[in-house]
Amino acid sequence: MLQPVGVGHKTLADYTHLVGRPLCEEVRSLAEGLEGLKVLHLSATAFGGGVSELLYSVVPLMRDVGIDAHWQVIIGREEFFNATKLLHNALQGNPLDLSPPEWRVWEEYNEMNAEMLQGGWDVIVVHDPQPAAMRRHAVDKARNWVWRCHIDLSAPHPPTIDRLVPIVSEYDAFLFHIPDYVPGALNGAGDSVNIVPPAIDPLSPKNMALSPEDAAFVCDQFGVDVDRPLMCQVSRFDPWKDPIGVIDAYRIVHEELPEVQLALVGSMAADDPEGWQFFNSTLEHAQGDPDIKIFNNLSNVGAIEVNAFQSQADVMIQKSTREGFGLTVSEALWKGRPFIGGDVGGIPLQIEDGASGFLVSSPEECADRTLQILRDPGLGKHLGRTGKEYVRTHFLTPRLLRDWLGIFRRLG
Ligand code: UDP
Repeated sequence: MLQPVGVGHKTLADYTHLVGRPLCEEVRSLAEGLEGLKVLHLSATAFGGGVSELLYSVVPLMRDVGIDAHWQVIIGREEFFNATKLLHNALQGNPLDLSPPEWRVWEEYNEMNAEMLQGGWDVIVVHDPQPAAMRRHAVDKARNWVWRCHIDLSAPHPPTIDRLVPIVSEYDAFLFHIPDYVPGALNGAGDSVNIVPPAIDPLSPKNMALSPEDAAFVCDQFGVDVDRPLMCQVSRFDPWKDPIGVIDAYRIVHEELPEVQLALVGSMAADDPEGWQFFNSTLEHAQGDPDIKIFNNLSNVGAIEVNAFQSQADVMIQKSTREGFGLTVSEALWKGRPFIGGDVGGIPLQIEDGASGFLVSSPEECADRTLQILRDPGLGKHLGRTGKEYVRTHFLTPRLLRDWLGIFRRLG
């Protein structure tokens, strides 16, 4: 059997005051008749990155409305995760396909995991490309198979997507964050293609309300001077997240506002072998500047600390050059912070440029917008307030739960 992930307990009723009664009632009525539905989510890791973040909140909420929901992670060793990282990068546009032996490694691990998978499910939801080939080897283990893609497939490397599409097109249903990510070959798949953006959990330790005093208290313990302005990016150490560009933007801001500080908070995902290498390049780029604080989960920065940094920062940044959705965007907006993000992937879905944050395409633009916000606290407050309301109505977990239930009903 694959490794089950323990997810704890959540109650939909606790979200009513945040998302409103009509949505909670809609969720309950969609859940009627689905009681006991056996749903298994399969993913590559239970730690680090957006997929695990989502599953820790949506799986317990599915259970709360009567679905018999479970989450298991696949087994993989370094050779597998090296191949899947290449796969991930190529699907997001890096022009380097897996070599034949790397494709073979990917297939073999998928086959091995498929053998270990228990049967008897109504629905198996496979998250992302890492386990996508399992269905082929375990088709009888579920009545319906759903592929949930979390990455930006708008401009994939052609040989890589061409190899993946025949495998995923066998699924019964698909979920993508935005229409732009649906591979051309699935355009004729009609109703089985669903556009469902992810969501954040407003009651998780990462997003629950933290007082400004508590946020400052936590950040102070990490060496941040809480009386000076703080720029911050929370993200994995990954070239697409562009922490190097954030440092460049900080340097431009620093020339005009020498009191500014930068915090780069980034965890290491278990399935991301490149993370350490890129973490070291980021450290090097910071050149020992004491006002650039670089943390990872090994510095004891967990969910509460991420919450504190996101609540404390004067400007939150996600300067990605590719971004499937970017949960960190909604997380920052939910804390009412002024936000600057790369104008790519799922970020413009969450930000209206100039109204609820700023979209940028270079370190220079990022620096200009940062200076504008730091010099005009009224602007920052206005952006933050507008952004938070948008997240409340679009990107909180009960909406995602509603969308899932609708899909389960259609699958029958
Ligand atoms: N995250 C975290 N600690 C870190 C860095 C990231 O908890 O040091 C979380 C972040 O708060 C968010 C998730 O990891 O919830 C990243 O999701 P996102 O969609 O932004 O990017 P992904 O990593 O999936 O590409």
